[in-house]
Amino acid sequence: MKTEPRLLALGPLRHACHACGTCCQGWRVALVDQLERARIQRAARHLGIADPIVDGALRQRDDGRCVFLTDDRLCAIHATLGADQKPKVCQQFPRRATLAEDGYRVGLDPACTSTHRSWRAGPEVDPLPAMQEERRLPADVAASEQGLIRLTRAPGATIPFFVGHFIGDPRHLPALPPPFSARACTLLGALDLASVASLQGPDVASRVAHLVPRLPTLDPAAPPPLALTPEHDAFALEVVRRQLFLRLGDPAVPPFVQALLILLGVLAAAWSEPPTTATPPDPQRLPEALSAWARLVRAPRFWQRLLPDLARARWLVTGAST
Ligand code: SF4
Repeated sequence: MKTEPRLLALGPLRHACHACGTCCQGWRVALVDQLERARIQRAARHLGIADPIVDGALRQRDDGRCVFLTDDRLCAIHATLGADQKPKVCQQFPRRATLAEDGYRVGLDPACTSTHRSWRAGPEVDPLPAMQEERRLPADVAASEQGLIRLTRAPGATIPFFVGHFIGDPRHLPALPPPFSARACTLLGALDLASVASLQGPDVASRVAHLVPRLPTLDPAAPPPLALTPEHDAFALEVVRRQLFLRLGDPAVPPFVQALLILLGVLAAAWSEPPTTATPPDPQRLPEALSAWARLVRAPRFWQRLLPDLARARWLVTGAST
């Protein structure tokens, strides 16, 4: 008898949608079948929207916004006809399910830019139904992924601790190793963030807009300290953990590079905050930038500029060029 794959989760799935509309931009919303296509055509006729479907997916406007997204950031189908009339993918986001070799991994996509608002104490949501994808990894790669996920959950884990393990220092480091920070400055300083951020729609780009002028000013000779609040540090590890567990990155990128890509986002976002002695920073800005980054790094055009190959990733970790 065929047994169903186990359902695996990192913990309770806590989420509250804040109707920000960010997930309604820049993503291709594929319609699952003829019934769904007919339902969307009916909804479009009702709402007076022409040509709602292009190549089997919802049409996007020139800036990437869904054709059904209203100016007040609501889904016109949801607002007028009810949530159950939206495409399935939209009903399910940010729930995700990945069929891995150990079972169905269910969780919440950290690219929802409101993740930080409800990840600790939001209402529990049912893990299913969820957007599903199959991603199986060879045993050695899966073991490395599990090792990284375990590290994010180690007692007292912080971002410096996590980076320390990458560079072979298993102590609970109080700060980032300066050579690692210097190399991160070099990579981030060369990233043309403005041109790649717009790929995912105006709201994602706006969440990282404050990083754009900051990154080219990063000086590898004088890397800034990493000043994360404990809550932002914990959230950053949560983003790494979810991205790895749900295998949300580009399948071409191995887990340890996925983790590095998110880490670079943590540094970019943290280094773009004003010093604590100046105007108190907006506590939502960093986690929202990180969620936007978690989405951006999935695009080949983005990660290929930052860490195009294993050699660059190893250089970031060790400083050794090959
Ligand atoms: S990004 Fe998150 S909070 Fe915003 S509309 Fe989508 S699910 Fe809701």
